[in-house]
Amino acid sequence: MTTQILNPNTDASAIPLAASLLRNGELVVIPTETVYGLAANALDPEAVRKIYAAKGRPSDNPLIVHISDFDDIYPLVREVPETAKHLAEKFWPGPLTIILPKSDRIPDATSGGLDTVAIRMPSHPTARAVIRAAGVPLAAPSANISGFPSPTKLEYAADDMTGRVPLILDGGDCAVGVESTVLTLAAGTPRILRPGGVTPGMLREVLGEVEIDKAVLDPLGKDETAASPGMKYKHYSPKTRVRIYRGSRKGYLRYFDRHPAPGLFALCFEQTAPLLRVPYVTMGKENEYLSQTQRLFDALRELDEAGASLAVAQCPPARDIGLAVCNRLFRASGFDFIDEAPIVGLTGQTGAGKSTVAALFSEAGYHIVDTDKLAREIVEKGSPVLSVLAEAFGADILDENGGLIRTRLAERAFCSEEKTALLNSITHPEILGRTAEEAFSFSERNIPCLLDVPLLFQSGADAFCDITVAVTASFETRKHRIMARDGISEDAALLRMRAQEPEEYYASRADIVIQNPDGGDLTKAVRAALERIQTNGVFA
Ligand code: AMP
Ligand code: MG
Repeated sequence: MTTQILNPNTDASAIPLAASLLRNGELVVIPTETVYGLAANALDPEAVRKIYAAKGRPSDNPLIVHISDFDDIYPLVREVPETAKHLAEKFWPGPLTIILPKSDRIPDATSGGLDTVAIRMPSHPTARAVIRAAGVPLAAPSANISGFPSPTKLEYAADDMTGRVPLILDGGDCAVGVESTVLTLAAGTPRILRPGGVTPGMLREVLGEVEIDKAVLDPLGKDETAASPGMKYKHYSPKTRVRIYRGSRKGYLRYFDRHPAPGLFALCFEQTAPLLRVPYVTMGKENEYLSQTQRLFDALRELDEAGASLAVAQCPPARDIGLAVCNRLFRASGFDFIDEAPIVGLTGQTGAGKSTVAALFSEAGYHIVDTDKLAREIVEKGSPVLSVLAEAFGADILDENGGLIRTRLAERAFCSEEKTALLNSITHPEILGRTAEEAFSFSERNIPCLLDVPLLFQSGADAFCDITVAVTASFETRKHRIMARDGISEDAALLRMRAQEPEEYYASRADIVIQNPDGGDLTKAVRAALERIQTNGVFA
């Protein structure tokens, strides 16, 4: 079959030709504001069967019926509830599909054998002009080969449908870029079966209660049936294997350094791209969901064009239109997640309550990275650091078995500022490296960890933390704690406190400040901090 491509803006014959083809039971690719659609007369079972054949779509996956005027809905359904009218008033024309019990006019071929029908009024002027000119409602799924990403540009619709349809209408790039929100009003509480440009929040404003079907974000269980038959199929998938990274931005960047592989690409937000050292394809801006939906399917196709074998994708929080992005991404990946837990840096003045905070994090399931222990490990017998120290401070800092004589090293290293600096320049990078490695290895196993590092900012350890927490307490509280904890005099405690940075040093640098209430309980403040870390977007 030869395929003609016409632009209705420049060719007056385009719409009448499309209308007559459709009335005669043929297929036409039309632009809509969501994605390009493969349209046929929804009331003609023979025409509808051609859609399934051209797409290779399973015949039990029902089609959405597109109308151009609200009154067109009446012959298609058994009844139009008030809620549907309210929704139409607010969201039609636009990216919302409403499911209602179907009338006998809708053939089984269109409803996939169900007794309900999905209806939408698109806003794209070409789509509406074609429906109106054809004089029949149009069944129109996305104009892609089934299972592959939906086309949001003319060229992609043409790639998939040339030779399969007589006519493709050029409508430019699609504004929304993902398929419509599918909402069922056919049973009980209104329920979102597929998220899209009309968000749960927008629907709740009109309807009050709205449920989100489990299949939106989770794979179907073995014995579960899909409320929306389309949900049971692998979907939106490019040839490139896609995996979803769920963790921090730092973790995402680190992933590529730690897991190099041939053909590995990043599928990332625009802001992340300049920070990467691997090839990438962008999918919109972080925090701008609409830019993500516009780009998502194109990006998946671009990965194939670039010959990527594996793409690791960033993931927005599953809210607002981000829910639609997650739904498509999760499906494109076949629910293949890389989950990495947060790395939290803890710091603060001595006596402020760091250990108590660390203990509460530990109770909440955090692994505590013990930097004191790591500092001891690096100078264990036979370690490379030990030989560097022996060279710098004298071979006799080691005993006859090669073990460190700590007092002797202390004598030699703490006699001058230069010597102390020399010791630190040998040991600190090694401790830092081990601290990082331990934190990464836990994060990669999806176990959150807390670094208890007094000199978190001074040592540079904050650089590999996803979030930093400082504990502060009043002067009096700290003083009494230090005296009680270490059994020292007031003067000795004051001396120690004076050697520390002031409170503002920590408070101004940390992401979260936990103020230890005088004589009070830290539990509430820690719980709030844990909550904030968890809902920090990337970990939500
Ligand atoms: P597409 O045609 O690719 O935009 O997909 C249409 C989506 O709507 C698929 O996920 C269908 O399973 C779903 N759908 C269409 N009609 C119904 C219906 N009557 N009941 C439940 N889901 C439907
Ligand atoms: Mg589709």
